[in-house]
Amino acid sequence: MALWKVHLSAPGQEPKRALFLDRDGVVNAERHYLSKPEDVEILPGVAEAMIKAREAGYWLVGVSNQSGLGRGRFTADQFHAVMIRFDQLLEEQGIFFDAFFYCPHAPEECCTCRKPKPGMLHEASEHLKWVPDGSWVIGDKKCDVALGRNAGFGGMLVRTGHGESNEEAVIQEFSEDKLVQVTDDLNAAVDFIVEQGRR
Ligand SMILES: [Mg+2]
Ligand SMILES: [Zn+2]
Repeated sequence: MALWKVHLSAPGQEPKRALFLDRDGVVNAERHYLSKPEDVEILPGVAEAMIKAREAGYWLVGVSNQSGLGRGRFTADQFHAVMIRFDQLLEEQGIFFDAFFYCPHAPEECCTCRKPKPGMLHEASEHLKWVPDGSWVIGDKKCDVALGRNAGFGGMLVRTGHGESNEEAVIQEFSEDKLVQVTDDLNAAVDFIVEQGRR
């Protein structure tokens, strides 16, 4: 597994709940194996949603499967250029991730960090104090939902990116599970989570 960054404000604070956000199709528009900085497009409402979540007391932690690295679809330099642009676009809208982790492996490498395996959650624990209770993974694929549920907290599917095509499989596998939810986008997801977290 790999660390992209930890913001200086993150370590050493009181434990907080965390929102673990998938990247592609959730924060930025889905592009098949995104490899060019000019193709990074932050989805509408995302910055607003992240600001709301931070104000409500959640860590913002990125967790992204980047098998394009392991498959040789793009280089580490290209990935870094995309991430620099990604951070820059978010900062222009007044928000940043507290920490960001990615899995650089192809599926056949059978690593311990490719979602839904929990490696990136464990790595996050080495960098910031977070509590599982009330935390959520938010993503556009079943593996994102499964990551949260396997670890004993919430899994939220959003309908952006690949979300709509994953919705049926998520509902089938997790029907009646109150810690699995489906919402239209990150903004709706954060509204739901913050509201539920107040109760
Ligand atoms: Mg995704
Ligand atoms: Zn991995």
